Amino acid sequence: TQTRIPAETHGISINDLSDNARFVLERLHEAGFEAYAVGGCVRDLLRGRSPKDFDVVTDARPEEVKRLFKRARIIGRRFKIVHVVFRDELIEVTTFRGGDAAEVKRADGGMITRDNVFGSIDEDVWRRDFACNALYLDFASGELVDYVEGLTDIHSGRLRVIGEPEARYREDPVRMLRAARFAAKLGFHLTPDSEQAIAHCRETLADISPARLFDETVKLLQGGAGRQTVLELKRLGLLEYLFDSLATWIEPNDPASDWVLIEPVLEATDERVAKDLPVNPAFLFAGLFWRMLGRHRVQWMHQRVPMEDALVLAADEVLAVAARRLMIPRRLAEIIRAIWALQPDLERHAPAANAPGKGKDADTLTEEQRALTEAPWFRAAVDFLCLRSRTNEVDESVCTFWRRHAPERGSRDEAPIEALQPS
Ligand code: ATP
Ligand code: MG
Repeated sequence: TQTRIPAETHGISINDLSDNARFVLERLHEAGFEAYAVGGCVRDLLRGRSPKDFDVVTDARPEEVKRLFKRARIIGRRFKIVHVVFRDELIEVTTFRGGDAAEVKRADGGMITRDNVFGSIDEDVWRRDFACNALYLDFASGELVDYVEGLTDIHSGRLRVIGEPEARYREDPVRMLRAARFAAKLGFHLTPDSEQAIAHCRETLADISPARLFDETVKLLQGGAGRQTVLELKRLGLLEYLFDSLATWIEPNDPASDWVLIEPVLEATDERVAKDLPVNPAFLFAGLFWRMLGRHRVQWMHQRVPMEDALVLAADEVLAVAARRLMIPRRLAEIIRAIWALQPDLERHAPAANAPGKGKDADTLTEEQRALTEAPWFRAAVDFLCLRSRTNEVDESVCTFWRRHAPERGSRDEAPIEALQPS
């Protein structure tokens, strides 16, 4: 049953969308197509938050959409969508999904592997994940279209899978990760059946490609509520599908667990996201696996391998563990290694906390110290070192010393970090 809520009643307006989103909607509308804002942006506006991106849905086919815009490209692995590119914003335009279960190509377990059947809005809505994400704002009338009582959910903070949760999770196991992300980020509660079904379906996450899992993981950790999201993933028993054996070392209430360092890493990331500062995924992954690296490294040193070789060997092992689930891009892995490798060097070459004089002054760096400041990823390594000093792994004076020599944001070290960010 479709409910169309007039603009006066629901309280949000096309004018709340970004200029570019409005432009895209208007263009589609003028070409005679239906055009709606949908998903997270509508949800966020209804909650009185400013959306971080805008998704548009239409009955125009991808090729038709592409033709309407100067800078548009068709992309898509599982299904085709159009990216309309502006100078500082990207608007994702999808065509209504349609078709019944029979038309969609499925793997044995019920997972959707190919999906390019187009339809109408009243088919599209049942293909969306959660009711709070399935509200449409109609450009033509300003009305809100609600088939699934999504508005009620938004007002009561409820996260509810559309349809039968188990079937929907099996169709696309990533929806379970999205459940954790939205529960954490929005502070919503999963309904009992949406939550219980996760326990029955979580193994299906093992079928998701490491490439897609990596993309999702970055969204989970850098979505602004990374700390809370990891706690939610842990609670739902999903963490091991992302982090493999590391998951058992994340125990929020155990002071001997890796959480002691991972929590501040996530908090630092959340703070930066809140301030709209760029975040470095290498820094995050370096932090997640740091204590595990330490354990592997000690094992090698027990076998009389020299310290530096032990670090390299341990890094290989730890990144191999990570790679069982996540395809960490090669470039990112290099940066993670660099951040790790610099830690012992930075500790060793800092002046002793109580030693007076030499090396303490910003202008009188030793040869070795200067070389370190010029190492690639020095800045990120110092950030990480200082984070470790917060957990008393490193003396605070070591952080303070190197901090004085860390280049400003936006310098040589920073650009590649931003370039690494997925869109
Ligand atoms: P965010 O605020 O993180 O952007 P969002 O709800 O907009 O959240 P997107 O990943 O941008 O999430 O997706 C846009 C919309 O597409 C969702 O709101 C949902 O309706 C639909 N959607 C996205 N991914 C899935 C999925 N795996 N299964 C079903 N529907 C999905
Ligand atoms: Mg979105």
